[in-house]
Amino acid sequence: MGLFLATQLDFIFFFYGLAFMLLGAVCFSIARGAVGKAARFDLLGWFGLVHGGSEWLDLTALIVDDGPAFQAFRTTVMSASYLFPLEFARLAAIRLGAPMPGRWIYVPLLMAVVATGVVNGQVSANILARYLLGAPGAFGTCVVMIIRARTLEILSRPLVLCAAACFALYGFAAGLIVPAGDFWPANTLNQNWFVTLTGVPIQLVRGLLAAALAVMMWSVWGRLQTVAVGSNLYTAYLQRHFLTTLAALAVIFAGGWALTNFLGDIYKENIQTEAQGDLKLLVSRLDGETATVDAMVKALSGSRAVHSLLTGGGEAERAQTVLGRNVEASGATLGQILDLSGAVIASSDREFGLLGAPNAATALYFRVAMAGGAGREFVQDNEGGPPGSVASYPIRREDETVVGVAMLKKSLVKLSTSLQSFDRPFFFVDGNGVVMLSNRPGTLNRGLWPIGAKATIAEKFGAPIGAPMLASEITDAAWTMFNGRRSYVMRSAIPKTEWSMLIVTPLAGMFASRFLGIIITLQLALTALFHFLGKEHGVRDSVQMQSRSDLQTLADSLEVKANTDPLTGLYNRAKFNVVIAHELARAQRYGTAFSLIVCDIDRFKEVNDVHGHQAGDQVLVQLSAIFSAGIRQTDLLARWGGEEFVLVLPATDGLTAALVAEKLRRAAAQSAFASVGAITCSFGVGEYVAGDSVESLLARTDNALYRAKLNGRNRVECAAPVTSPDLVPMHLG
Ligand code: GH3
Ligand code: MG
Ligand code: MG
Repeated sequence: MGLFLATQLDFIFFFYGLAFMLLGAVCFSIARGAVGKAARFDLLGWFGLVHGGSEWLDLTALIVDDGPAFQAFRTTVMSASYLFPLEFARLAAIRLGAPMPGRWIYVPLLMAVVATGVVNGQVSANILARYLLGAPGAFGTCVVMIIRARTLEILSRPLVLCAAACFALYGFAAGLIVPAGDFWPANTLNQNWFVTLTGVPIQLVRGLLAAALAVMMWSVWGRLQTVAVGSNLYTAYLQRHFLTTLAALAVIFAGGWALTNFLGDIYKENIQTEAQGDLKLLVSRLDGETATVDAMVKALSGSRAVHSLLTGGGEAERAQTVLGRNVEASGATLGQILDLSGAVIASSDREFGLLGAPNAATALYFRVAMAGGAGREFVQDNEGGPPGSVASYPIRREDETVVGVAMLKKSLVKLSTSLQSFDRPFFFVDGNGVVMLSNRPGTLNRGLWPIGAKATIAEKFGAPIGAPMLASEITDAAWTMFNGRRSYVMRSAIPKTEWSMLIVTPLAGMFASRFLGIIITLQLALTALFHFLGKEHGVRDSVQMQSRSDLQTLADSLEVKANTDPLTGLYNRAKFNVVIAHELARAQRYGTAFSLIVCDIDRFKEVNDVHGHQAGDQVLVQLSAIFSAGIRQTDLLARWGGEEFVLVLPATDGLTAALVAEKLRRAAAQSAFASVGAITCSFGVGEYVAGDSVESLLARTDNALYRAKLNGRNRVECAAPVTSPDLVPMHLG
């Protein structure tokens, strides 16, 4: 589990960073509202943004080559991000009246971090930044949120409390569980301790907490938003789409993770195939190098001169010559004839023969050949240099019994030199795993894996073995750590020997190929988020527009109510007052004419008395319709009150107004009124003259009406200054 998750660190960092950026965006959004502005949520927004950025820098470090400068930069960004929650908590504490140091406090804190970095290295600075800034910032933010939650409306409260809990947990995960350091408590309470305890890298826990925080604060934002917009439609929309977007994001992350791993696996498979090919190439190069001695030693063993030397009949001189020729032809460095006891009886190296060679009786190549087989062994006979390849073959009498062994030894110096430029590390190791040949400098005679108490060739030369490069022996192939990097190590045994060849392929490139999966995931996640935000904006706008138009409708209907007579649907006296004032002002300014007609139903009291009040109302409604039909659109007809009506006739002189009144009088008189029969009306007409006020004009017109009543009703009378009294129609009925 732990090793698997170690290969997933890139995706974890990506997810972790994105969650923090989302948290930042949400906090910035909350900060735009009144509640969030007062609480300085913009500081948490900056925290999310900068800390998310620092996680993405960690992700970058996995992909590109990491160096001390980049490490220092990452620690700086991370430390800076922790200043924001710290400042958030400090400001809130000040507002609550708690004694707090000023901003100067950050100077000694940061100086302590920087000084530790300079003296002890960036890991120590990273640890101290977490202790001094990260933990107090997160815990402080948690406390602030708990206190704030009490002042919030009931539905936001549990969300903010959950967010507070997440901040506290984050304080533990990021502020107290730190990289392993050489001082207390970082030497015990650290990431390594956590991964051993749980099998889960702490980064994953932090990432999940960041995601929970983002979701929590996002919900808080949604809650504040629905309160601010105050529309059921919007609330329902937001709730539904918040959940769909969360579900979509979950699917995107799961799918993206699978895609990322799929791409990583393709890369891994490529590495495995490549490693296999390279290993084959190396082994065949080695085979090619030893094939000639393998073949020549066989020829040597069959040589007559060698034969007769062993059976006692030959001359040493001739055997020596044959040996020399064979050595030369095969490119070997040494050729020897050994007797049954393993003693050298002839050697291409004369001095070697004179000095006396070490007895070969125990050597593998000798034993194999004595048993009748073709022997092969790699030997290292001087410290630090490349080994030699020894080929051996039995020398037989006519009756097939073995009488001695022929051996040729070839140095692998040339092969070693030509393989130095091979692009990935390879190791040619003996049966104990001690490196005999490699293109990695400084690895000769080092154990590739722990070799325990086994006797080693290196010990023979008194050289120290050095620390093993791999944690354990590789039997076939494995993904393991090599030189601090995850690598693919593949091993191939060399036939007939205990030696083997290994090739190492570092996994560095894998994160680069997985990166494509991460980019696609990021794009999809952003699309989902922008879709959500775009829709949210759209719905909010339309809801707000709807509520504005609702308000307008309401205002309109209020205005209608205020200006309308409920029984007849005509304008009422209030509207009349407004229109007449307006008309008067216009007449005064431009000198245009306008007239007024007032009308009163004749003997209406009797109608009520005879037919009832209801029938009287009916007459009023019907008469309103008759009058409305008989006037221009620009004229204003209003119910003055009771059974009296009034008309404003813009741009109309008194004479024309009298004709209108006469037309209306006739229309009323000639109409049949349901259950009442016929009724009549009297009219007074008044024309505006310069200097008139509303009151004077009304009084004159009313006077005319009064005269109409006096003169027998069912008639039109005009007010005094009418130019041509002859034209005024008199009583017609
Ligand atoms: P005249 O105008 O011809 O002198 O006689 P009149 O009977 O119409 O006299 P007056 O103006 O004094 O009486 C008005 C009557 O109109 C009084 C009241 O019964 C009736 N009236 C006023 N408003 C309403 C109303 O809204 N509905 C009904 N049904 N009757 C009304
Ligand atoms: Mg009246
Ligand atoms: Mg009347």
